[in-house]
Amino acid sequence: MKQQVNRATEAVWAGEKDYRAHGASQVPVVNSVSYDYEDLDYWYKVSTGGAEGYIYSRNTNPTVAAFEEKVAALEDAEAATSFATGMAAISGTFYTFLKPGDRVVSIKDSYGGTNRLFSDFLPHMNIEATLCDTDDHEALEEEIGKGCRLVHLESPTNPTVKIIDIKRIAEAAHEAGALVVVDNTFATPILQNPLELGADLVIHSATKFLGGHADALGGILCGKKELVAEVFHYREINGATLDPHAAYMLLRGMKTLDLRVRKQTENAEKLVEYLSHHPEVEDLFYPGLESHPHHDIAKAQMRGYGGIFSFSLKGGQEAVRKVLPLLKYANRAANLGAVETTVGPANTTSHVESTEEEMKALGIPSSLVRYSAGIEDFDDLKNDLAQALDSVKN
Ligand SMILES: *Cc1c(COP(=O)(O)O)cnc(C)c1O
Repeated sequence: MKQQVNRATEAVWAGEKDYRAHGASQVPVVNSVSYDYEDLDYWYKVSTGGAEGYIYSRNTNPTVAAFEEKVAALEDAEAATSFATGMAAISGTFYTFLKPGDRVVSIKDSYGGTNRLFSDFLPHMNIEATLCDTDDHEALEEEIGKGCRLVHLESPTNPTVKIIDIKRIAEAAHEAGALVVVDNTFATPILQNPLELGADLVIHSATKFLGGHADALGGILCGKKELVAEVFHYREINGATLDPHAAYMLLRGMKTLDLRVRKQTENAEKLVEYLSHHPEVEDLFYPGLESHPHHDIAKAQMRGYGGIFSFSLKGGQEAVRKVLPLLKYANRAANLGAVETTVGPANTTSHVESTEEEMKALGIPSSLVRYSAGIEDFDDLKNDLAQALDSVKN
C-alpha cells in the first residue's frame, strides 16, 4: 500500500472511521468481553471465519482494531496485530516463527528484555541466538550467511543510539532465506519505516512514543497479511491481548505523534549541540552528530534523528548521582518517549541486568545517562541541565 496522505494526517485520522458507533467523533472503548448473536447460524459463520465480526475480546475487539489500523497506516503495512506490551509483541513474534534447532542473528545492544529472551528463554527450546557487535555490518552479514531463520534488529539502539543499515542487512537476510524483524520503537513511524527498507515485520513498544504519555502499556507488530495473521493466531491463543482501555489511550496519544516527535527531535538536536560544548560532558551519543560513526546511514534511512541521546560526565557516576536529582523538568524513570523529559543512568535503565564489565565490553560508559527529550520549551530544558551541571563544576 502506498502512502496517500502525510503521516501527520494519518496519525489523526487513520483507522478510526469504521469504529465510531452512533456517529461519535471518537472511537469508543468497547469493554465488552463477548458479543451477542440472536442468529445462531450467523454466530457460527463469524466464529468460523465466514463473516466479519467479534466473538470474544481475547481474539478481537473494536477499540483494539482501530489502534491496529492506525499503526498499520503509519507503517504503510498491509496488517497489524497488537499485544499487551512491547515484550509480548517481540516474544510472540519469536515463538510464532522459531522452532527447535532454529538460529537467530541479532545485535548485542538490543532492548534488555529482548536480550533476556535470547539468553534465558529461547535456549530452552534449543533456539540459538548469535549476537553481533551492533554496528559491525560485516559481522552481521557473515553470521547471517551461515544460515538463520530470523534476523532481529533495532536502530537506533539503546542507550548509545547506534545505527544499523536496515536495507543492507535485510538484503543479506533475504539471501539467506531469513525473516527480518525490526524493533522501530526509538525511531517511530514518523522518522523511519523499516518495511520500506526491506524488513518483513516491524515492532513497536507502543508504551513509549506511540502512546507518548507514559500511561498505557502496549505493543504492536506490522507487516504482510500472511505473516501478521500467523502472529495474531499465536497471540489470540497465548492471550497477551491489548486491553481496550489501553488501546484507547494509545489511539488518543497517537493523534499528536507527529507533533510530539518533531518537537522532541528538535529539543534533542539543540540540547546535544549545547552539551557538545559543555566542559563537564565527556562522551555524547546522537545519530545527528556528524561525528557519529553511522551518521550518513541515519541521514539516508531516517527523516530525523529522534528525541533520544545519551551522554557521560567527566566526574563519572558520582557526578551523575549529583546532577540527575537536581533536574526540575525530568522524570528519573525507566521509560522513554513521553511528553515529559525522562532521564536515567544506563546501569539503572537499559542495562540494569549487566555488570560494569559487560557494559564496558559493549562500549557503554559506566556513567552513561539516557536522555529522552520531552516536549517542554528548549530554553527551559537547557537552563535546567545547566543549573544541574553547575553542581559538579570543577
Ligand atoms: C520498552 C521497549 C521494549 C519493550 O516494551 P514494553 O512495552 O515495555 O514491553 C522493546 N523495545 C524497545 C526498543 C523498548 O524501548
